Amino acid sequence: MTDTVISTVVEGEDIYGVAAITTQVVQEAQRLRGACPTASAALGRLLTGGVLMGCLCKDLTHRIALQVTCKGPIQKIHVEANGAGQVRGYLGQPVVNLPSRRGKLDVGGAVGKGVLHVMRDVGHREASTGAVPLVSGEIAEDLAAYFAQSEQIPSAVSLGVFVSPDQQVTAAGGFLIQFHATLPDDLILHIEQSLAAVPSVTNMVREGCTPQEMLQRALGGLPLNVVRTLTPQWACRCSRTRVSQTLVALGADELRQLATGQRHEHVRCEFCGTTYDFTPAELDALLHEAMAVEQGSV
Ligand SMILES: [Zn+2]
Repeated sequence: MTDTVISTVVEGEDIYGVAAITTQVVQEAQRLRGACPTASAALGRLLTGGVLMGCLCKDLTHRIALQVTCKGPIQKIHVEANGAGQVRGYLGQPVVNLPSRRGKLDVGGAVGKGVLHVMRDVGHREASTGAVPLVSGEIAEDLAAYFAQSEQIPSAVSLGVFVSPDQQVTAAGGFLIQFHATLPDDLILHIEQSLAAVPSVTNMVREGCTPQEMLQRALGGLPLNVVRTLTPQWACRCSRTRVSQTLVALGADELRQLATGQRHEHVRCEFCGTTYDFTPAELDALLHEAMAVEQGSV
């Protein structure tokens, strides 16, 4: 099925569930980054986490950045998502492929020890940030640990990316369930048993489950009200104007060195790989802009 993310609430309870199919988004990320299977799974899981958290945002313009910095061969995974379902991300090292562990792509081995940083920009002057040590590097458990430790919200997170023997991503998705209130013991038991029995996300996506069906299985058939449906999309916000602004922000000293080299400068977007070419004359113009900024005339 086409990529979809839904946000739901369990009728009569303070339980929120979001679930997503993100196969096309992860395929696009793999295509743009040329990532190997294990690396694609790592990036795909964090991208899916971003899509899920984006769908929980109250406003389309709210933004989330998730960054894993780690000691494993992948080095870093960075994802940005917003409340409109748009997401983008990149890996420190996309050429990482490890032998499978217990029949699954060894994302934990590719990530290793590290830290998950979460930044939320909800339009206030200061973005809120939180960071937790990675639990396993498998991403879903690490996000659950972030919610429990930094936001004090007990959460269940499951993420999955399936890579076929020809190394192509063929299924991706995930769900996130959050408990905003203390629940009666029998309801907790029902949910725990349902979560323990739910098939893996990749199996459900490959079977053709919708996001709603995934949540229904995860929550053992509790009645759900869908409050939001979005289409997740890979979207990079880079542009020549933004790259120019970044160059100006480097400052006059840095730009003077680039401009005096009389060479073209190629600036590559880490997210989508687009390369922006700046001629010596254009660099000179940016240098004058930076000098004007520093002299306070702009
Ligand atoms: Zn880009």
